[in-house]
Amino acid sequence: MKNIVSEKMNIKSMKSITKEEAINVMEDPKFFYVPLQQHIGQISRENIKIRDEIKRFQRIGELQGPVSSIIHSPISGVVRDIIEGSLPNGKKSKTIVIQNDYKYEQIELTKRNISDIDKISGEDILKIIKDSGIVGEGGAQFPTHIKYNVKGKNIKTLILNGTECEPYLTSDFSLMNQYTEELLNGIKIIKKVLNPTNIYLVIEKENKQLKKKLEYIEENIKELKLKILPSAYPQGSELQLIKSITGQEISKTVLPIEVGIIVSNVGTVKAIYDAVIDGKPLVERIVTISGEQTASKGNYLIKIGTPVSHIINKIKLEDSLSNTRIVFGGPMMGNDVTDMETPVIKGTYGILFLSKEIDKVERKNCISCGYCAEVCPMRLMPMKFEEMYRKENYRNLLKFSINSCIECGACEYICPSRVPLLKSIKKGKEKIRKVEGDKDGR
Ligand code: SF4
Ligand code: SF4
Repeated sequence: MKNIVSEKMNIKSMKSITKEEAINVMEDPKFFYVPLQQHIGQISRENIKIRDEIKRFQRIGELQGPVSSIIHSPISGVVRDIIEGSLPNGKKSKTIVIQNDYKYEQIELTKRNISDIDKISGEDILKIIKDSGIVGEGGAQFPTHIKYNVKGKNIKTLILNGTECEPYLTSDFSLMNQYTEELLNGIKIIKKVLNPTNIYLVIEKENKQLKKKLEYIEENIKELKLKILPSAYPQGSELQLIKSITGQEISKTVLPIEVGIIVSNVGTVKAIYDAVIDGKPLVERIVTISGEQTASKGNYLIKIGTPVSHIINKIKLEDSLSNTRIVFGGPMMGNDVTDMETPVIKGTYGILFLSKEIDKVERKNCISCGYCAEVCPMRLMPMKFEEMYRKENYRNLLKFSINSCIECGACEYICPSRVPLLKSIKKGKEKIRKVEGDKDGR
């Protein structure tokens, strides 16, 4: 597939602002909001009650159904409430509110030495991954113990995604830069589970400062090759990455595992290292804080459940909150957040504080220039989605393959008329889900 995106899209990167900074640790809030839905699949089932005293790393949400994930407490304290809280994507989830007691009492963790890696079986590692509540940290949040349960399938290619192609975001860059040794050992651990023929560690040219460090990993894992791809958007999406690395073009309806490929984010690799070597479940992650409205740009280690209201109190905002857009994720695929109790979750790689001025640009009608179709990595016709959604012709949205859209936002970015393409796509998909659900009597 011709990668039209790389030729046409000229997105300002904004990454140099936060790239080389040391990782800061965000101070802990008094109240944590820990959603029970932080993964694709069925919501976890709480195993605690209001007023229970809990310890750091304690399990507070159990698996429910075949695709689910375990949730742990990021802090010691008291369960104050169980509410319907907001998620960064605007949806709601049952959420456990924990009052921090600042005692940092924790359950006992099972630590292991690096030299033990050879002695642990793949099955045992898979169990540790499951018990540690690890999900894809690149935003998809698919439970890793299910993705890695390959049941004897031959894994030809493992792709470790460090491309981080959206502007502003550098959480993966800082992780690869500052945790290179952990990344190396994390890959050795994953090898025991998947036994892949080839491993590719992929970054974009823009991050080639990491080359020397990552070559160290290449020297120490014989199946691994470092791949530096041209900087392009949306390079990091799973299907684009598979095409760029293997030349294979697979449809959105086919799971990569069916063709012997697994893609994992580098943050997930580090989470697996933390779980197996330090015995730590996934209760914190690196988040890029950036955008023109804050002077406190950088990469921060933030505990899961930390609400954005607390983050706003700890950073310096350049303008009033009313002039600021808060975006969880990147500027292309992220979601605007207005509920100040929205917490950092396992898939939160960035929080941006952007000016609202850009929203004042006038939106006009489509001029049929065709640019949106030209840049679409899935070769769709985005202008049709807006037209069909506006005309409430939802059946035709399916005819134009709306479900193949990966919501990368490239079409809206390039559109000279600023047609609200992404909003039409997201709302259109919701409508279809609702119609299909109603049909099934759900
Ligand atoms: S239609 Fe979807 S996949 Fe295509 S450019 Fe727009 S958001 Fe990206
Ligand atoms: S880029 Fe915008 S104006 Fe051009 S065809 Fe697409 S929706 Fe219409």
